Amino acid sequence: MTTALPPLPTQEPATDRLRGLACRNCGRSDSTPLAFVCPACFGPLEARYDLDLVAAILDRDAISARPPGIWRYRELLPVVEPPKRGLAVGSTPLVRADRLGDRIGIDQLWIKDDTRNPTLSFKDRAVAVAAARAVELGLEALACASTGNLAGATAAAAAAIGLPAYVFVPADLEPAKIDHALAYGATVAPIEGTYDDVNRLCLELATETGWGFVNVNLRPFYAEGSKTLAFEIAEGLGWRTPDVVVAPIASGALFTKLGRGFDELARIGLIERRPVRFVGGQAAGCGPVADAWGSGSATWSPVRTPDTIVRSLAIGSPADGDGALALARATHGSVESIPDADTAAAIRDVAQLEGIYAETAGGVTVAAAAAARRRGVIRDGDEVVVILSGNGLKTPDARRFRAPEQRGGLGRPGLAAPIRPSFSAVETWLEGRA
Ligand SMILES: *Cc1c(COP(=O)(O)O)cnc(C)c1O
Repeated sequence: MTTALPPLPTQEPATDRLRGLACRNCGRSDSTPLAFVCPACFGPLEARYDLDLVAAILDRDAISARPPGIWRYRELLPVVEPPKRGLAVGSTPLVRADRLGDRIGIDQLWIKDDTRNPTLSFKDRAVAVAAARAVELGLEALACASTGNLAGATAAAAAAIGLPAYVFVPADLEPAKIDHALAYGATVAPIEGTYDDVNRLCLELATETGWGFVNVNLRPFYAEGSKTLAFEIAEGLGWRTPDVVVAPIASGALFTKLGRGFDELARIGLIERRPVRFVGGQAAGCGPVADAWGSGSATWSPVRTPDTIVRSLAIGSPADGDGALALARATHGSVESIPDADTAAAIRDVAQLEGIYAETAGGVTVAAAAAARRRGVIRDGDEVVVILSGNGLKTPDARRFRAPEQRGGLGRPGLAAPIRPSFSAVETWLEGRA
């Protein structure tokens, strides 16, 4: 696979408002084609904007007048122009969740329902921005290393813009997620090993092939897509921030970019700057950031053998883990470690109390909100937004999970044996259930 690198335009999406990419750690700017780490200090590259200029051209009315979707906030996204083709991503509902709030003791609870993006997870946001940039760069294919949801998101985005997709996943991924990516015509490569093994492989493949790996060589653009969750939360609350945001952490990109999204809105004067506490959730069986939080450490240690039903968050070496820890600390939030049995119970709660079916990452997030409430990070009267980042249809076994000490393996099956189509048969069956 040593095809020559196609000639690439410079990585810098230079416009007046966009100042290209710069290292988050040392500040050095970079214009190497498809660079994603700083050549000087190996820190992550991030998009830079002229926020004074954005403030001069963007206001609330301009945004309200635009059609729904993430490109409402185009001036704060790292592309030259909104793409002409692509999926309709974003503008998902922000709904009050009073019944769930009562259950977990939160007075004003909102759910940001990202189970409803085109491929049923928040990954569509990140991929839409990476894909738009791939088109601007003239790349020949989209690719990714996926813990699950990114597979479908990348495959669908590629289909919508007419590029081939190459998706690399751990071979033992949930079948529903592999099937989803195959449906869009992607080439799916099942790789032996953990997500971190897949990711390491893709670092090499990205340099050798020149394909646009959305979360590797397009990562600076991909990561920016998550900010749109912060923009929509603020807009949905009438241009203000909540007291607390609760979000899942895998690589930490979503979590850290929420902080950046609110900060940018304040800097351009669209919202008033008020303190927001950031609460993160990870699975106990793969929670490098939560473990570091628990031990008071400023940096995470890798988890080499993830052991959890929460596959979408099972990243043992999170690229933005330190940033996630720093954000939780600086804002007096927390990072909660959630056992799988609590995740399964939370999936059932949010489905049965609010009618929203979340995947395992959503269970982690709801359980993290409850845990943060118990430890006093969430207080009386707080207004809290919980992000549900993926759809339960992708992890159908998870809601039936029982810990070994509870009953072992999967619990009660979802469906009874078939019933004769007669009134008395149904009557008897209903009595038997009561
Ligand atoms: C990928 C993913 C996340 C978190 O992603 P980050 O790598 O932390 O940005 C959260 N929820 C779901 C459902 C995901 O697929």
